[in-house]
Amino acid sequence: MNLYHSTRSRALSCSSKDAIRRGIAPDGGLFVSDGLGAKKLDVNTLAEMDYHAIARTVLQLLLPDFTADEIASCVEEAYGTTFSSDEVTPLVKLDAAPGNGDVPTYVLELFCGPTSAFKDVALQMLPRLMARAQAASAANGSAERIMIVTATSGDTGKAALAGFADAPGCGITVFYPKGMVSRVQELQMSTQEGSNVSVCAVHGNFDDAQSAVKRIFGDGELAERLHERGVVLSSANSINVGRLVPQVVYYFAAYAQLLRAGAIAAGDAVEFCVPTGNFGDVLAGYYAKLLGLPVAKLVVASDANNVLYDFLTTGVYDRNRPFFNTTSPSMDILISSNLERMLYYLSDGDCEFIATLMASLAETGRFEVTPKLLAKIQEVFACGWADEQQVSDAIQACWAANGYVIDPHTACGYHVQTMLPAATNAAARVLLSTASPYKFPRAVLEALGETAPEDDFACMRALEQLTHTTAPAQLAELDQKPVLHTDAVDIAEMSAYVERAASSL
Ligand SMILES: *Cc1c(COP(=O)(O)O)cnc(C)c1O
Repeated sequence: MNLYHSTRSRALSCSSKDAIRRGIAPDGGLFVSDGLGAKKLDVNTLAEMDYHAIARTVLQLLLPDFTADEIASCVEEAYGTTFSSDEVTPLVKLDAAPGNGDVPTYVLELFCGPTSAFKDVALQMLPRLMARAQAASAANGSAERIMIVTATSGDTGKAALAGFADAPGCGITVFYPKGMVSRVQELQMSTQEGSNVSVCAVHGNFDDAQSAVKRIFGDGELAERLHERGVVLSSANSINVGRLVPQVVYYFAAYAQLLRAGAIAAGDAVEFCVPTGNFGDVLAGYYAKLLGLPVAKLVVASDANNVLYDFLTTGVYDRNRPFFNTTSPSMDILISSNLERMLYYLSDGDCEFIATLMASLAETGRFEVTPKLLAKIQEVFACGWADEQQVSDAIQACWAANGYVIDPHTACGYHVQTMLPAATNAAARVLLSTASPYKFPRAVLEALGETAPEDDFACMRALEQLTHTTAPAQLAELDQKPVLHTDAVDIAEMSAYVERAASSL
């Protein structure tokens, strides 16, 4: 059986169900499995597989203690009717490849779910996996309720709320940095319905909020008090394996669509360019590679918060730097949690080494890897970044060349594809599009050279007229919904807030 353990120690191992219930390992590490990649998915069979079939196969490989029936029902519930495309994550060909390359380039639209961000793909699945994991633990005699606690840089919060609202046996508390998410994003969260949801603004940035949430998870006394009430805390951030695993699926789904379109032959390598923040999305691409997907290169695209670019080019990770609030808030991150899992696998599972790096990151905000390890990392990952002007120019350039509108996160990737020649063995390039442009209508409209009206919803309508596209209804109707959540706390008050919310579960 594929057991999971912490990136920082092999002392405790657990099933994938336990790993999903707990979210993060007790020592602060992330759950990983050494069985990853032992069994592969045969790409020769992909062309005949639809999204559901691929999802069942990938999930079973990575979550072996779930039964085939459990996985099939999770897949059906998560992707049955909740996405606006039958492909779930449709692939769109761009007329003109970015830059002056001639490798055909496609956009993988990951934003067709209920909240118009790529996080829906995972967060429609996670609550379903969590419910089965909880049932397994209840069968072992512990009748617990789970409180999901999540810090969001903008999109995770709403996608998690949509996934967990009114989920039986669960509550959810979401913290977001006050004033640092778009108005549409804030309204998406503050209008969320559901008897088990708490939404709270925090005075601080995303990294502060994420660090506080990690401390809350590591607080033994709090855990003890909650345990007495029958409540355990868990995470919906991409530190949870149950978040990561569903993201592996769309890399294979993209490949299947390329095969069906005749754009590639089975076995051809494909380059994926991924707008990156917490390194969850691009890490899922690495998992896909380990599962047998022919990946030419995984391109990590950052915004002005380019800590990953510096790491991937120099081997020095240093979060001691200015923090920029950009038009791509979901990528405004200086501590990319999932990098830890990548370092684990590329250091051949050296837990002690990972524990040392992470201790150094916690104490000094910095760590460094050897040139040898860096070279290994660079064989898999390329990188680039875009400043605010380049993001804006990329939105404009993509529209001019293709009549296709992209959001500021996707635009970081488009810019990087423009600057970076395609990997020499790439038969196709795929740009992962992580959000609908209608989540960021002001930034997009301004990038297209228009004067943006004051109201974000007027911006949406202007964008519709200009581009002859339609805003997703769940966004366009947001300003009609009542605001239900107005709480705001300091970082130091977050723990008490969680405890209060948990006491009403
Ligand atoms: C979360 C998010 C990202 C970054 O994804 P990671 O998995 O954190 O790297 C990029 N774009 C959008 C729109 C997002 O919501």
